[in-house]
Amino acid sequence: MNTQKNHTKGNSPPNIAAVLLVLFFVLSAVTLTGGYQTWRRLPLYVGKQLTETEMEEVIARNSPLTAYVHLSPNASFPRETEIKKITIHHMAANLTLEELGDSFGKRDRNASSNYGIDSHGNVALYVEEENRSWASSSAENDNMAVTIEVANEAIGGDWRVSDEAYETLIELCTDICRRNGIEELVYTGDAGGNLTIHSMFRNDTECPGPWLESRMSEIADAVNKNLDDF
Ligand SMILES: [Zn+2]
Repeated sequence: MNTQKNHTKGNSPPNIAAVLLVLFFVLSAVTLTGGYQTWRRLPLYVGKQLTETEMEEVIARNSPLTAYVHLSPNASFPRETEIKKITIHHMAANLTLEELGDSFGKRDRNASSNYGIDSHGNVALYVEEENRSWASSSAENDNMAVTIEVANEAIGGDWRVSDEAYETLIELCTDICRRNGIEELVYTGDAGGNLTIHSMFRNDTECPGPWLESRMSEIADAVNKNLDDF
């Protein structure tokens, strides 16, 4: 049979040094946790060089057309609205996917896009689709849109893009529509359509340049045909 033992000890005065030590550790833990959470505010894989396996993991939840991943910290995590639009940009340069990724990787650049397409027609992911890129000078648009930067084959003038980049752009738009339930891409020439361009939101930019801008309806038609054929 168990007998209840009396654990009550004599009342010793509190040890001030021990209390202060405990208080010190509690405050340190709180401070360290705060610092950790600030650091954690950037999601996993953002702003770092990824291994092949990590890239594959990221690509699995974005476009399978993606060949290169460099996740930019210049984004809002996550986006606030569901994906309803696509916005086209040009690089105003003929950068490689790595060069654009390095540029978007700099925090003071304050810019990014979800995807990039180089002049060979290769696709890079810079901001995962679930997050809002900082691309179009409009938080409202970028919250709703997947944004794409296309490399220019011609610098200046009509800012032409290569045939390979143009073909990939149509493929990528088709894929984005399919995976996000966008049944039809509509270019209205203003922000009311679900295919938009940067210059709709900012007066002092030519982006995406005359060559791409003049083909927006053609792009919408080609994507819609792909969607119908699916
Ligand atoms: Zn732009």
